[in-house]
Amino acid sequence: MNAQPKMNADTQPLLDVVHARKSFTKGDGGELLVLEDVNLTVRPGEVVGLLGRSGSGKSTLLRLIAGLSKPSGGKVNYLGTPVTGPAEGISMVFQSFALFPWLTVYENVALGLEAMHVARDEIRRRSLAAIDLIGLDGFESAYPRELSGGMRQRVGFARALVVHPNILLMDEPFSALDVLTAETLRTDFLELWSDGRMPIKGVILVTHNIEEAVQMCDRILVFATNPGRIVSEIQVTIPRPRDRNDPAFAGLVEQIYVEMTAKKGRTTTRISPAGGSGIDMILPRVSSNILAGLLETVAAPPFSGRADLPEIASELTLEIDELFPAAETLQMLRFAEIEGGDIHLLPEGIAFADAEVDERKRLFARHLLAYVPLAAHVRRVLDERRTHAAPSSRFLDELEDHMSPEVAEETLRALVSWARYAEIFAYDDETGQFSLENPT
Ligand code: ADP
Ligand code: MG
Repeated sequence: MNAQPKMNADTQPLLDVVHARKSFTKGDGGELLVLEDVNLTVRPGEVVGLLGRSGSGKSTLLRLIAGLSKPSGGKVNYLGTPVTGPAEGISMVFQSFALFPWLTVYENVALGLEAMHVARDEIRRRSLAAIDLIGLDGFESAYPRELSGGMRQRVGFARALVVHPNILLMDEPFSALDVLTAETLRTDFLELWSDGRMPIKGVILVTHNIEEAVQMCDRILVFATNPGRIVSEIQVTIPRPRDRNDPAFAGLVEQIYVEMTAKKGRTTTRISPAGGSGIDMILPRVSSNILAGLLETVAAPPFSGRADLPEIASELTLEIDELFPAAETLQMLRFAEIEGGDIHLLPEGIAFADAEVDERKRLFARHLLAYVPLAAHVRRVLDERRTHAAPSSRFLDELEDHMSPEVAEETLRALVSWARYAEIFAYDDETGQFSLENPT
């Protein structure tokens, strides 16, 4: 089905990212390493997927590729030449539609060409062709507010395509759309791509949706977090158009779940080096409701204590950005274990699912204090102080020795929400004080 020319290995790559590294300077002058030793190549005719959880550096990498920001190390070559600024020939579709509300569809699309000093009638011809190609014929003079989300994203595509880029970068372009609209847009896009009707040679698709990556990509690069790096590359050889019900499709999805939850790629449950206090563990923001819901679902039939993560994801309609941190938190708290893409409950996890509210809180408190060193640390400080109170800055300062201020803030927020549920200490949002008083 794929009408794109099949290229042999020695064809000049469209894009070559070599040992790319990116770090940002933190508020305290330290370095936040976001991307480490990223290598990737895009050849003509390829759709390459970057699959990873949020915060793994995917958007940062796209910005390097587009020339919107500079690598701290390594290089990005476009058609063999280093990218040093916004590269003509590379264009981007964003998750949020980023249209100008005061411009019509036609004007939003034509804008990209006006910046390139293209002749007027050429602008008109190409803009109308892009609008037509992407299924917006008849909407030329509509304003963004008159369009549905799906139609707006079609304008986003038309605007990226009108410049006839060699490489189209797509940063989670379907993730702000409802399920059906997203599916329609994906299918339309793939049809245009397979028919060779789009003026592009290669695509990089950033996504955190495993099924989407398998449906759309020829190769999938799996990203791990902290720092962002590629941990595996998966070839997708299933013929197009791909059917989600095909066992080969489901098998590949399963394989990727296994890889993405394997220990090597897991960083949110990082345990400190022996001898450390252990408070440098990054805690993910997962609500106690989601944790309880996941325990209940896995405990109940048909799962009865053990479930396949892809099945749970579809049963609970959870994205991996929600499911993985929740499953890993249960593992960190020793309520469950994750292995081979499955989650299975430990006896205490089953006890939690079977218990009433008060008993659940007691169990949760016990595990939180036993397995999350930061929880025990905050509790100890509050116990020892005469006032039984301490400002959050006291703990943020400690955390910031090990992580960026944003991550420290998130970690403390995660702890606060779990501690509230477990009733092991209280936190007052207005004064920023931790205390032993029971929250009312
Ligand atoms: P993703 O797209 O995979 O969700 P991002 O590339 O947006 O991830 O972000 C990766 C990490 O880099 C995050 O921790 C984010 O806070 C950090 N980051 C991104 N841009 C900047 C910046 N300009 N300054 C400091 N930190 C940044
Ligand atoms: Mg992003």
